[in-house]
Parts: sequence; C-alpha cells; structure tokens
Amino acid sequence: MKRKSPIIINVPHSATYIPPHEKKYYTTSNFKHELNVMTDHYCDDLYDTGDKMIRFPISRLVCDPERFRDDSEEIMASIGMGAIYTSCSDGSELKAISLKHKERLLSRYYDRYHNRFEREVEKKLRKYGKCLIVDGHSFYDEPLPYEFDQNQNRPDICIGTDEYHTPERAEEMLCNYFRERGYSVELNRPFAGCIVPIKYYHSDRRVKSVMIEINRKIYMDHSLAKTCGYMRIKQDVAIAVRLLEKCI
Ligand SMILES: [Zn+2]
Repeated sequence: MKRKSPIIINVPHSATYIPPHEKKYYTTSNFKHELNVMTDHYCDDLYDTGDKMIRFPISRLVCDPERFRDDSEEIMASIGMGAIYTSCSDGSELKAISLKHKERLLSRYYDRYHNRFEREVEKKLRKYGKCLIVDGHSFYDEPLPYEFDQNQNRPDICIGTDEYHTPERAEEMLCNYFRERGYSVELNRPFAGCIVPIKYYHSDRRVKSVMIEINRKIYMDHSLAKTCGYMRIKQDVAIAVRLLEKCI
C-alpha cells in the first residue's frame, strides 16, 4: 500500500541494467569498475519510504536523466558526461556512438522518464496543490577524477538545494536533523542542486525539491556489500522524509 502524500521520491542512478543491444558500443576495458563507482547502489531501497517513487530502470551509463537533455545547457557535457555519457569518470572513452544513436537513446529513455515524471508531478499538484520531490542519491567516498570538487574531506550527507524550489525551512530542518543523528552534513557540497521537471523549472513554486546524497561509506563497502550502517541510515531517511512533509 503506497502512502498518500504530496511527495515523489526520484531515484535516477540506482539501476545497473544495460540493455543487451547497447553492450557492444562500450569501448572501455574498465566497464565493471565504471558501473561500480557511478551507480547509486541500493538507493531504490534506501529511499523507499512508501511514498510514490520514480526509479530510472536503466543504468546512467546508458542515459542519465538527471542531466539537462540539451548539451549546450549541461556543464557536464563538456567532459563527455551530459545526458548520454561518452566518457568514463576518469576521462577515458566509455563508448562510441553516432549522433543518431544518441538521439534514439534520449527519446527512448530520457524523454519517457521525464514525461512520466511530469505526469506524476501534475497528479500531485492536482490532488494536493503542491508537490515535494526528494531527489535520492549516494556518492563515492573519494572524489572521482571527473568531479569538480576534489576535496578529500567528504561529508556523510550532502543536501542539494535550489534557490527557487527548495523551501528554506526544509533545508535547515534536514541539515539539523542529520547532524543531530551524528552525521556530518554539508549543503551543496560535493554536489549541488536538485531535480525539477523542465516544465516546472523556475516557473512554478508549488513544485518543491531537495536532494539528499548519502556517502556510500555509511552503508556499503567497496565490494558492494551492505554494512551495519545500512538499516540505520534507511530509517533515518524515512524519518527525514516525514519531517520534510511537515515543512512544505
Ligand atoms: Zn546519483
């Protein structure tokens, strides 16, 4: 039974699935490593709070729905990591595909996901007059070569916000709550921002959004096994989302 709430949990990076017909385009010899470091492992379960969840079913190494579709608007496209990655996290080549193929991936995966996302936000707005998107991610415990922020000292939790879409009290509440639970927390570091479907982006204040990023070292080890911190952070996220609901 799904919880009735104005909340949508967005989990774009937890999938590892690569459609079989796409596999032949990957040129990297480091594919397994790349999938390991780039996937937000277990986030579809970690952020399963009973609220409506939208989970991207395909690996971000095929298509990343969290990026802007248009490379000219996406800063990461300059290093081969726009909506369709052509580079690995260390800057080496990930895959070689034609522009036509790229467009096919965008319409098949990116557009479908965003259309669904938009519809779900619309439903929440119709029902509740507001919507809160909780963008659920995790990050590698050391900076990967592609990341702009190379500071080795990474927080346990990063809260990503948007001036227009993140209510100030939600931001404050999250930082305080996670700190009280014993985690180190930073705002928009090492990752900034939070997702909002383009239809509503900076044009509809009823759509609120905040990103929670969890440092992997809290809940898993380098062999991808869950550690004893897993259930604790899962419970803490569930409580944080209920507190968020009261903030909007
Ligand atoms: Zn992510």
